[in-house]
Amino acid sequence: MRGTMLYGPGDVRFEERPDPKIIESTDAILKVSAACVCGSDLWPYRGIAQIDGPAPMGHEYVGIVEEVGSDVKHIKPGQFVVGSFWASDNTCPICQAGYQSRCVDARPIGAEGAQAPWLRVPLADGTLVATPELPPDDLIPSLLSASDVLGTGWFAADAAEAGPGKTVVVVGDGAVGLCAMIAARQMGAERIIAISRHGDRQQLALEFGATDIVTERGDDGVAKIKDMTGGLGAHSVVEAVGTQESMMQAIHSTRPGGHVGFVGVTHGVELPGMDLFWATVHLHGGPAPVRRYLPELLDLIWNRKINPGRVFDLSLPLEQVAEGYRAMDERRAIKTLLRP
Ligand SMILES: [Zn+2]
Repeated sequence: MRGTMLYGPGDVRFEERPDPKIIESTDAILKVSAACVCGSDLWPYRGIAQIDGPAPMGHEYVGIVEEVGSDVKHIKPGQFVVGSFWASDNTCPICQAGYQSRCVDARPIGAEGAQAPWLRVPLADGTLVATPELPPDDLIPSLLSASDVLGTGWFAADAAEAGPGKTVVVVGDGAVGLCAMIAARQMGAERIIAISRHGDRQQLALEFGATDIVTERGDDGVAKIKDMTGGLGAHSVVEAVGTQESMMQAIHSTRPGGHVGFVGVTHGVELPGMDLFWATVHLHGGPAPVRRYLPELLDLIWNRKINPGRVFDLSLPLEQVAEGYRAMDERRAIKTLLRP
């Protein structure tokens, strides 16, 4: 098959790779129906995160099961499935507590490379969730979003304890931040404040449930949130960027006793001890345990209660994956969907 490889900054190639095969008896092989480019793929693409030599790319996927290993009991060939970007056994104590992304046997799907027509998924029974039947084509973008950005936004809103009567601030207007707004609304938040400077993203934020838009960042953004909340700060703040500025903006925008859900992969973030000490907030975050939320998210999508697939504003044939990266890097696209 041909699949996506990153050779170095800006150097994405769609080239010959070995066909994935069952390696372990708990594996499944999927015929990928759709994959996409993640905001986190842009870190190595921009040379901010280092890679050691050419690396397969892509960790978000939906597809049809082609073949399963001899120990796979629940997932069957022919099913349409969605899986998390971390494979997990879903049985160990960490999984049972709802933190499947940190499963004792967690495997990164990125190492397999989902931006390809075929994909090996380890720990298939623990990782994959099947839809009730083959989905209509128009649901595929939303189902794909559940594989990462929707699940990650959901975890962030949950970790920030979004809920009825709460004011929720979302720092970051990428696909994850936008999906956190869908989550906050579903969780019953009273007020959802999007931090965004981009017109197209502000529009989507409002569609997803934001009640207010704030354009200021850093300390100005914090002052604005304090202003809007009677000087107290928000109950719940989602951090979906991963920079020093966004992390401190999130912490300082939270009222004492409030909750920060942080899911932006951090780059160079250092938290000053005294700021943390006086903030008096709950910090909860990390790689989202998307698997925990998949059954609920698939149900909401299947019944057309939410439409997170709207975050994909560019759709390309898989072989044009390099243009998909360029468009996101240059902010011409929020998120690129790829069709084999
Ligand atoms: Zn586990």
